Amino acid sequence: MAEFNLIQNYFNFEQDLSKSVVKAIGDDCAILDIPKGRQLVTSTDTLISGVHFFDNIDPADLAYKALAVNVSDLLAMGAKPLAFTLAISLPGINASWLEAFSQSLQQAAQNFSINLIGGDTTQGSLSITITVYGTLKKGKAVLRNGAQLGDDIWVTSTLGSARSALKLHNKDSLSDEQKLLWQKLIRPQIPFKFAKRLNKFATAAIDLSDGLLADLGHIMVQSQLGARLMVETLPLEEALIEQEGIGQARQYALAGGDDYQLCFTAHKKYRKKILYHAEKTQTQVTRIGKIIEQGYQVLLNGEPLAITENSWQHFQANL
Ligand code: ADP
Ligand code: MG
Repeated sequence: MAEFNLIQNYFNFEQDLSKSVVKAIGDDCAILDIPKGRQLVTSTDTLISGVHFFDNIDPADLAYKALAVNVSDLLAMGAKPLAFTLAISLPGINASWLEAFSQSLQQAAQNFSINLIGGDTTQGSLSITITVYGTLKKGKAVLRNGAQLGDDIWVTSTLGSARSALKLHNKDSLSDEQKLLWQKLIRPQIPFKFAKRLNKFATAAIDLSDGLLADLGHIMVQSQLGARLMVETLPLEEALIEQEGIGQARQYALAGGDDYQLCFTAHKKYRKKILYHAEKTQTQVTRIGKIIEQGYQVLLNGEPLAITENSWQHFQANL
């Protein structure tokens, strides 16, 4: 199959194009209109086989996750998804693999209201690079550097499950609890609806890809402030506690990666408002700590907690 046919068959799928997409797949470039008073925001993430996902990953899961982790970056800015490009490198043409990948990508794109507008297709070891484009009201981006002294620290959904699920790879049969954790790893449910409201209250935000301590560390560095975390408040799946015990579950929630939830800061006057928007969008949100002058205070019921998981070193070096 020639490259052209491959693109036609699997990537030029039917989609409801946004009116801002003037030209999608098929020419030398795609063309986007930027609505008046809005700014274009863009971000890229690459997923490489064996590094970011297991070699034997289900192509449908791969397509979903590749798009979700990119859209997650748009959400963390308070941006509205608009379009994406897909650069894919494939070892060969496997029709059933491509079919499953393409269908899942189309479904995910529809769910996230984002249009595939172009890309590149090459032969090589399996890797996927997606570049996303979104828009936001001029000057209304939620940046990492905006946290203020005394702000509350919040997270969406639950943390740590994806890290636990990494250990389930290649297991023959999974219990119901393990299945739930596995889903958290392979199909992260990004807080799509809630994030659209982020700029109504958040002073800073980041999406959690490397782990809470590491990622919140970026907000701290850029805002030149510190953070106190109340570990007993961290939102954990029951299944995670069952699987790991509460102590290890908390360690994974602090240091484990791949959650793709949002961590954001907001003035305490917005507590009610945040809970209102969370309810309206059926999103779990939890207040887990507070912005302080400097450094990390990781407290369990008021006492310092030792961090036994890895990403601690990583962010300590950055502070
Ligand atoms: P060129 O050689 O000019 O870069 P290509 O043959 O690579 O053109 O691509 C032809 C068209 O198909 C372009 O619009 C390009 O953006 C699109 N395209 C190529 N690969 C993909 C892909 N994997 N997904 C979506 N669009 C793609
Ligand atoms: Mg090309």
